[in-house]
Amino acid sequence: MSEKKIPYKIYLEESEMPKAWYNVRADMKNKPAPLLNPATLEPMTAEELGAVFCDELVKQELDNDNRYIEIPEKIRDFYKMYRPSPLVRAYCLEEKLQTPAKIYYKFEGNNTSGSHKLNSAIAQAYYAKDQGLKGVTTETGAGQWGTALSMACAYLDLDCKVYMVKCSYEQKPFRREVMRTYGVSVTPSPSETTEIGRKILAEHPGTSGSLGCAISEAVEVATHTEGYRYVLGSVLNQVLLHQSVIGVETKTAMDKYGIKPDVIIGCAGGGSNLGGLISPFMGEKLRGEADYQFIAVEPASCPSFTRGVFAYDFCDTGMVCPLAKMYTLGSGFIPSPNHAGGLRYHGMSSVLSQLYHDGYMEARSVEQTEVFEAAERFARVEGILPAPESSHAIKVAIDEAMKCKETGEEKTILFGLTGTGYFDMYAYEKFHDGKMKDYIPSDEDLKAGFDGIPKFPGNM
Ligand SMILES: *Cc1c(COP(=O)(O)O)cnc(C)c1O
Repeated sequence: MSEKKIPYKIYLEESEMPKAWYNVRADMKNKPAPLLNPATLEPMTAEELGAVFCDELVKQELDNDNRYIEIPEKIRDFYKMYRPSPLVRAYCLEEKLQTPAKIYYKFEGNNTSGSHKLNSAIAQAYYAKDQGLKGVTTETGAGQWGTALSMACAYLDLDCKVYMVKCSYEQKPFRREVMRTYGVSVTPSPSETTEIGRKILAEHPGTSGSLGCAISEAVEVATHTEGYRYVLGSVLNQVLLHQSVIGVETKTAMDKYGIKPDVIIGCAGGGSNLGGLISPFMGEKLRGEADYQFIAVEPASCPSFTRGVFAYDFCDTGMVCPLAKMYTLGSGFIPSPNHAGGLRYHGMSSVLSQLYHDGYMEARSVEQTEVFEAAERFARVEGILPAPESSHAIKVAIDEAMKCKETGEEKTILFGLTGTGYFDMYAYEKFHDGKMKDYIPSDEDLKAGFDGIPKFPGNM
């Protein structure tokens, strides 16, 4: 086969965009463990899940068998506003590094919310609207998910209540205003608007909030308000499914040019972008059709994969959500202030956890200052100002490319560039001023988190 000249950016035609999401669970021999009801320790039934999530999403959450799930036309129309996203050959970075490796990245930051989260936000909002619901509630930490959801809800004319961790609400006023521009209500959490919020405020006056607490408030409002459901931006099987649009597009573009990646890298917070990017490639590996090396990258300050345990644990700090089997640091684990807000989650997608446990994937942890060095290096040659979260993947992609420089191997490296970092300039400032610190939790710090993992026969 004659080699095709690879353009700097590969854009698919609209007609080549995926018409179905790919459900990697269908090809897994060991399926991800089901969510458990914390009161009975029995698998959550569709009825129980239906109190929190809308019906179609409950189906998707529980579907371990259907390989392809059609993307409704209305969602595909919305995707066309910002997709297909480009697959970029990082020629400039390759040149700068003087590496024989070929580096590609799939760029998901080309929309106002600035990240891949919009891929699932529009799907979740669509099914809520389709069911005739009035609105949805959610939490947001750094703000990317809340912004994505507010864009989706504005488009579909669905009401949306966002609980934003109080310290982000105060530190990131511009994120908040973007959300309000799209018409959602943003409440700093903990708040007086919920029972759990009032309880937390009474116990800890002056607290700056946490993601776990904001989740508990959003779930309370959803379950106590007629016509509302709760939506979550990562971790869940349904979210990973929606994010497979990233991987399917990438694979289509690569197949078109006869490119086969050797190494696929992504940052991992709750696992949705990484899971979405690798899904179709992982499917080939699971079916024995091809082999790839997959690497999850996480912050050393919140090392769920590399130092966590594989057990059933709560998804939220308030311990109101179901138990998920995953690599976890314990729902009470509070990571140090690492600036990559989107990667500060104590757990990990059950799908990725199972794949990692079964040896299909590797994981690495990296420290914050080296991540920002990589971010800056990348920005200076490729132009895009990357989000701190995404820069974790950049760091490991550069490491792999430098290894190729030593060995002379011409590997093809693919990584997910999940978003842009315009709202993270405070973190960049700290880095530039030399005030950024690395923090690695001690074994004792981790033990405190592990102690909070529920104990029952077969767990821990
Ligand atoms: C939320 C976020 C992440 C991490 O979430 P995943 O579910 O692990 O993908 C990564 N990058 C950006 C830009 C984000 O906003």
